[in-house]
Parts: sequence; C-alpha cells; structure tokens
Amino acid sequence: NSPLEQQRAIQQTNDDAAISKYCAVSKGYYSDPFISLFVNTKEKRQPLINRGTYARVRAVQMLVERFLQSTKPYGKRQIINLGAGFDTLFFRLREKDVICKEDMFVELDFPQVTRMKRRIVRQHSALYSLLTKNTDTNSVQEVQDGLSCDIYKLIGVDLKQIESLSYLLEHICQLSADSPTLVISECVLTYIEPQNADRIIQYFSNSFSFISFILFELTFPTDPFGRQMVKNIEQRGFSLSSLSLYPSLQAQKERFTQFGYSKVDIKSMYTIYEDVLEVEEKRRIERLELLDELEEWRLLLQHYFLLYCLKANALQESEEDKI
Ligand code: SAM
Repeated sequence: NSPLEQQRAIQQTNDDAAISKYCAVSKGYYSDPFISLFVNTKEKRQPLINRGTYARVRAVQMLVERFLQSTKPYGKRQIINLGAGFDTLFFRLREKDVICKEDMFVELDFPQVTRMKRRIVRQHSALYSLLTKNTDTNSVQEVQDGLSCDIYKLIGVDLKQIESLSYLLEHICQLSADSPTLVISECVLTYIEPQNADRIIQYFSNSFSFISFILFELTFPTDPFGRQMVKNIEQRGFSLSSLSLYPSLQAQKERFTQFGYSKVDIKSMYTIYEDVLEVEEKRRIERLELLDELEEWRLLLQHYFLLYCLKANALQESEEDKI
C-alpha cells in the first residue's frame, strides 16, 4: 500500500468506530444523543460487537469521570483526546456539565478528519451550542483545520509530527505544563509505528508534571481467534508489521514505566467486564440481544486491554490509580 492509501485506511477506522457506536446506541446499550449526527448508515453490528462497544465506551468514560472528580480541587484540568475521530465524549461530558469553563478539552486527528468533524459540529446546533455554553467569550474561531473556543480545541495534525504536536498544544491550545492533564488514546497508537508511538507517550510524560494516560488497544494476537481478528484488520488495508502491537500486557506496562509513568495499571477487557463494570448495567444490557457465542465473547474481550497510568508529584499521589 502507498502511504496515502495507508492513511486513508487509517482514517476509515474512524468511520468504522463511529458506526459501531451508533449501532450500540441504537440498540439501547448506552445513551449518546450526539453520535447519530456523525453517522449516516443502515449497517448493523452483531450482538458481540455491540456488547464490546458498550464495554469499551463505559470503561473509558468511567475513568475519565473519575479523573475529573479527583482533580476538582485543582481548577483548570486538561483533556487531550488523541485520534479522537468522531468521538462524542466532549459533548457528552459538556452536556452533563462535568467539564466546566476553566477546563480545556483538545481533540486531535488528521486534518481530513478534523475538517469533517468541524463541518458536522457547525451544522448542528445541538453540538455547536455546547461549545460556548456558560463560557466567558462566547466566540468560536477556525484554527488549524478545526475549531477553537474557550474550553475546546479541535486541531488537525499528524500525531507522528511531535514538533508540530508540541507547538500546537503549547501555543494554539495554550495548555499549561502544571495543570492536571489526561491523555486518552483509544485505538490510535496501534496505527502508528512503535518508535513514533513511544515518542508520543514520552513527549507527554516529559512535558506535563501531572499527567494521567488512558490507553485502549488490541494485544498482539497469538492464538487462532486473534489471528482471525488480524486477518480482518489486514483486509482493511493494514499489514501486521505496520501496526504497533505489544506481545503482552506486561510489555505494555513496561513501555509506560520506562517513560516515567509511576503507577501503571492494566487489565484485559475481559477482567474489566467481569470485575469492574456495574453489575446492574450489565444485567440490563445482557437482556438486549441474545448472545450465544459466549466463548467467542470471552476471546474477543481477552484481546483488548485498558491501561491507566499516572505521573504526578508527591502532593498528587493520592489520586486513585487503579482501574
Ligand atoms: N478514538 C476514536 C474512537 O475510539 O472512536 C477513533 C478511533 S479510530 C479507530 C483511529 C483514529 O485515529 C482515526 O480517526 C485516525 O484518523 C486517527 N489517527 C491514526 N493515526 C493518526 C495520526 N498519525 N495522526 C492523527 N490521527 C491519527
């Protein structure tokens, strides 16, 4: 594949993620009043995928809300969503007033993707009005293939260009090095070669003194089920060698530890589904669609993991650090 084709295939993974979320929401797995504005499809997903999407969205949102809760006393908090695609997290949090006017939420993706997102946000007042709700200046500007207002920046950048990334975060987003900062990376670093992905992880650790990192990804598949998953990925135009996959959860853990993150907690999505997600909610969603391939469900979840880590000074060490 040419680099351009490869980039197009990567961007298409965003459409795929948005469609999966839309399908899960339409079936009642969780509520997201905004996702339908980003998707135009009649596609349906298997119950297995809907349930997996639910687990991932709930688990990530739970960690984000916990970060926001525990950093309340600090004033300004910063959230940076890497490869945000059409993710609606900002709008969902903003609607519930979980992020306030002192905070800053940054979404980064390729310019082609952020331009599409900008167009959709501008088209729908349900989205656009949340940008300036209860803020001081009430103004929204166009910047760097995206949008900028007091609490939200949508920025087009290739994350591999660390110098551009650092310039944009410092000068356009005006992030401060000392405010509590959360980086979210959901199915993004997988598509970036390991050395570049590592540089991104290291950049955040070096540049912010109080940082938490959420990583949701696939593990390197060694069993037949995992190899089939990889085949499906390859059919979409990726070669396994171009993906940044680590052989084990332990290897992922060490990857973050070596860059100065002190508390690294990592769990397979199977463990998270079984032990972390709310029992009542699981009972509810398990009744939505019949799932008879329980073994497949377990295998699917075992191939994904969620990592949460923290780098903070002694004063901030009290933040809850387990998933
Ligand atoms: N994080 C979103 C979610 O979970 O719904 C989207 C996930 S999608 C699988 C991967 C996203 O990462 C795409 O929107 C893609 O364009 C973006 N991405 C991958 N590599 C990137 C890079 N080098 N620079 C900027 N964005 C990138």
